[in-house]
Amino acid sequence: MSQSEIEYRTPATDWQTLAYWEGCGRGEFVLQRCGDCGVVQHRPRGLCAECLSSGLEHFVASGRGTVYTFTVTHQNGMPNFRNACPYVLAYVDLEEGPRLMTHIVGCEPDEVSIGMAVRADFVATDKGLGIPRFIPA
Ligand SMILES: [Zn+2]
Repeated sequence: MSQSEIEYRTPATDWQTLAYWEGCGRGEFVLQRCGDCGVVQHRPRGLCAECLSSGLEHFVASGRGTVYTFTVTHQNGMPNFRNACPYVLAYVDLEEGPRLMTHIVGCEPDEVSIGMAVRADFVATDKGLGIPRFIPA
């Protein structure tokens, strides 16, 4: 059975996350790099999670990664998800290092595997923002 779309809402933003969500709206996966220790981090924050520096810079990442692990959700009664079942919830290891929780779309749930190469894909929302999810690379 083909996956239906999750009904994504416009992300709630603040000063720490706006550049990330705006990047998603442009179809770019934006990460933060610490100017002091060099660590790349995700989720976006106001400080480096490694050394607590505020010297963070944003950069456009490759958007490529591999599936670390995943599960197939067959039941979810939440209004924005109930018509999308079954859908794939996964952890993806980004090429730049961070691991994030996301959805895998663009294939059947039983085609997803650990180690599978994926790339970011985006759903535009209003306010020029977007939501990332991943598709087979
Ligand atoms: Zn740092």
